[in-house]
This record gives sequence, structure tokens and C-alpha cells, in this order.
Amino acid sequence: MSDIFARATSINHDFISRLITPGDKAVDATVGNGHDTIFLANLVGDTGKVYGFDIQDMAIERTKNLLSAHNLSNRVLLIADGHENIDKYIQHPVKVIMFNLGYLPGGDHGIITREETTIAALKKSLSLLTPHGVLSVVVYSRHHGGEREKQAVESFFESIPKTEFHVVKINHLNRLSSSPYIIIAQRND
Ligand code: SAH
Repeated sequence: MSDIFARATSINHDFISRLITPGDKAVDATVGNGHDTIFLANLVGDTGKVYGFDIQDMAIERTKNLLSAHNLSNRVLLIADGHENIDKYIQHPVKVIMFNLGYLPGGDHGIITREETTIAALKKSLSLLTPHGVLSVVVYSRHHGGEREKQAVESFFESIPKTEFHVVKINHLNRLSSSPYIIIAQRND
């Protein structure tokens, strides 16, 4: 934990770990290799629940194995569907929703998050948050269409009324502008 500023993901984990308490519900909207799913499952405890979405079987499979190795399977529902359909599976408010854009590291680099589905999912996610609930996005832009997706994500967050959400962006000023960074929105009541 001493090197939290080295990576966008570790900065993000640091913020989110302060917000979640046992019994909370949380969503990993892009399961990938399962690191965020495990992270959330540890925080929500035995009485909480994590919902994990991915359209790629390899991601769901890897994460299923990882969860079972950590004895955390009972806290997580893995859903092999797009996060743009989040409202089909979740109707009650959740404390945290995490997105990690781009492709699955070590997987098929052709299967990527896309502007249209990402924005649709982000819109639905905002309306699913509890009071003081948080939506976080780790933005990657090096995949095909990634630069356009990044612009769309920024425009989306810029347009959110400040009376409803606090929206912050955290990036490394001394790295390339294509380096991953974080956008976090917190419902302010
Ligand atoms: N770029 C990050 C990892 C991103 S993983 C890194 O380097 O660590 C992104 C995951 O999102 C992939 O596993 C991919 O299959 C998944 N994904 C793509 N489109 C999706 C969608 N519409 N719904 C849910 N998951 C999706």
C-alpha cells in the first residue's frame, strides 16, 4: 500500500476501500482478470454482494477460478453479459460501481469496451448508486477506438450536474496523456 500512486488502479482501490463497509453491494462492470472483483469481494464481507459483468468467457472463467481459490465465490454473482444491460440484473441501489476500460490483459485484444455501450452503461450506473455511492472508471485509451471512447467518457462526466454528483479526475501529470487515469463520481446526498 506504500506505493499507491504508482498505478491508477491502486489509487482507485485506496479511495474505494474507504467507502465500502461490510454488507454493502458493489459492481465490477468489467471483470477482466478478476482483480477488482476479488478486491470488492473482500470489502463487502460475508453479508455483502458483488455483481461482476464481462462479455468474454475467458474473463468469467479466470475470475471464477480466482474466486474459488480465495474462497470468495459465495459473495459474487458473475454475469456473462454486457454492462449496458446492468439494469436487467440489478434493481436495488449499490454502493460502488467500478469500470476498467480497454481489453483483457493476456486475452483477445480485439474484445474491447466501446464508446456506445460504455456510455449507456455509465448512465444506468449513475442512477443505481446509493446516497454517497461511487462510480469509478479507470480510463485506458490505447485500444482501437480508445481515444474516441475517452473523449465520450469525459464529455459524459463533464455534463453531470454538480448539484447531484462530485466528479473528479486523477491523472499522472508527468506521464504520456495516453496513460491510464481515473474518473470518480460520488452522489452527493
Ligand atoms: N485495460 C485494463 C483491463 C480492462 S479489462 C488493464 O490493462 O488492466 C476490460 C474487460 O471489459 C475485458 O475483459 C472485456 O471483455 C470486458 N468488456 C468489454 N466490453 C464489455 C461490455 N460491454 N460489458 C462487460 N464487459 C465488457
